[in-house]
Amino acid sequence: MSQPLNFTEMPGAPERPQDQFLNPEDIMYVRDLKMHFPVTKGLLKRQVGSVKAVDGVTFRVKRGQTLGIVGESGSGKSTIGNCLLKNVNITSGDIFYDGNNMKDINPRAMRRMRKNMQMITQDPFASLDPRMTILDVVCEGLRIHKQIDNKHEMEDMAIRQLEMVGINPDFRFRYPHEFSGGQRQRISIARALALQPNFIVCDEVVSALDVSIQAQIVSLLMQLQESMNLTYVFIGHDLSVVRYISNNVAVLYLGKIMEMTSSDELYDNPLHPYTRALISAAPIPNPIVDRARERILLEGEIPSPINPPKGCNFCTRCPYATKRCHEEEPEMIDVGNEHYVACHLVADRTGGKVENG
Ligand code: SF4
Repeated sequence: MSQPLNFTEMPGAPERPQDQFLNPEDIMYVRDLKMHFPVTKGLLKRQVGSVKAVDGVTFRVKRGQTLGIVGESGSGKSTIGNCLLKNVNITSGDIFYDGNNMKDINPRAMRRMRKNMQMITQDPFASLDPRMTILDVVCEGLRIHKQIDNKHEMEDMAIRQLEMVGINPDFRFRYPHEFSGGQRQRISIARALALQPNFIVCDEVVSALDVSIQAQIVSLLMQLQESMNLTYVFIGHDLSVVRYISNNVAVLYLGKIMEMTSSDELYDNPLHPYTRALISAAPIPNPIVDRARERILLEGEIPSPINPPKGCNFCTRCPYATKRCHEEEPEMIDVGNEHYVACHLVADRTGGKVENG
């Protein structure tokens, strides 16, 4: 079914592709994305294999909403974030941003586009230059993209950004080490917002913080989303945090999406055995409910993406795995209610139809 297209025109962008799956309400559409890193050996660096960090993921991110990507360490979630911002050259697949296929965009247009797409990472201490005052940190992007030439205007802008994220602008001549972890993350957010982006990848942004500070940062991100109509891809390993901020959640395992739906549906009606295991492992504040609930314990570690299992990626740890699971890869099926699952067991039980885009 062809949809009317009404995307933002971008100078330097190629002729608009008439892709039947593009939808104006999506700021991003990712189709069959693969990111394989070569594994080399010896002096001649002969390729002996590849790390399948991301192995055929398809998803959409709606404007003004948050897509959560949750998974264990090594599942490929941060690699997806880097692919979305074109920090790496993808192996195959398509990433459409505002209706434009990113692989067709020339470098000049890409530079302009970059200011609309920002990333906030887990470790603000590593990403903030210790020799720069936080005023310089916040102004850095404005300088690089030549957004404002006037020094005083730039300082006014930085003051506004710092106020917006809850940092006292009187501290603007201080250095990153003079702030706490939560404050440094606020400064990172101010820096990302200085260029007025519309799309932000938040990569494990609260993972290194105390629980109470995590809640403050998540709540700040939600307020900013509301006031600036921001779209987030929120990457994390804690399903309860990801669920709280996200409209939709994709559960990632070994470079593939296992289940994807709205965050409420995922929590109320998890279907994939991996999602059920993640939810059953998440702490619940009420000890009576916590004791009474079913637990699915996962044995072993996530396998190496250099040598993923044949069949279903989750078959080596799934308590329900059958012979078929070890031989045949499950397709992503639509079980209704915008709920997508890749599991033979769920497909047989629900009779869902194969998802095509
Ligand atoms: Fe488990 Fe098989 Fe479903 Fe994979 S396809 S999650 S191994 S039951």
